[in-house]
Amino acid sequence: MKQKEISLNSPRIRSLQNASEDKEEHFITSYNTPLREDAFEMDDATKVKKISEHFEAIMDILGLDLNDDSLRGTPDRVANMYVKEIFSGLNPSNKPSITLFDNKYKYDEMLVEKEITFYSNCEHHFVPIFGKAHVGYFSNGKVIGLSKINRIVQYYAKRPQVQERLTVQIANAMKDALKTQDVAVVIDATHLCVSSRGVGDTSSTTGTAHFSGKFTKRRTRQEFLDFINNK
Ligand SMILES: [Zn+2]
Repeated sequence: MKQKEISLNSPRIRSLQNASEDKEEHFITSYNTPLREDAFEMDDATKVKKISEHFEAIMDILGLDLNDDSLRGTPDRVANMYVKEIFSGLNPSNKPSITLFDNKYKYDEMLVEKEITFYSNCEHHFVPIFGKAHVGYFSNGKVIGLSKINRIVQYYAKRPQVQERLTVQIANAMKDALKTQDVAVVIDATHLCVSSRGVGDTSSTTGTAHFSGKFTKRRTRQEFLDFINNK
């Protein structure tokens, strides 16, 4: 994906502090993934079996010949992929365990991990959203292993998502883990439901941002954005 300049005043950045105004198609009801309470009463093997049956029915309705060698395994493949891979982040038992370290060096400047590649899926069309997440925080006495920031991003990406919710869920997980409000998350992503269908726009990307604590200060926020724009 071509990396574009992200600036504080960019209209591409949809600030989530005031994300109430909405867009017809991509409608978000809550920053929690709307899951039923009994979502994990059924075990994974049963889910795979049932999804496979239903996906086979979809293919059948589309008129595809399930006896064809190339298609025969597709329902099982899709079901396994849904449950064990691309939607595995729905299940709280897959949440990464977070280890923190003492901030030995008393580093009190902002810490930024940028260009975290992620793959998610739009919950309105079940087609991919992919892009880069940039995460920053100030230590409140503890620091987090950098690979763990990556894992937090991947965990929340592996759900049917909307980009705004993904942004806030990552920010909230960072705040919880690090016991601080001083967290920033910016996501720049391509939505295949926009580029491969619908309006067929292949060049636009969508920016979302969440800034809290020290990052609500304009200078700090700018420093973070300078950091992520600096190749
Ligand atoms: Zn969509």
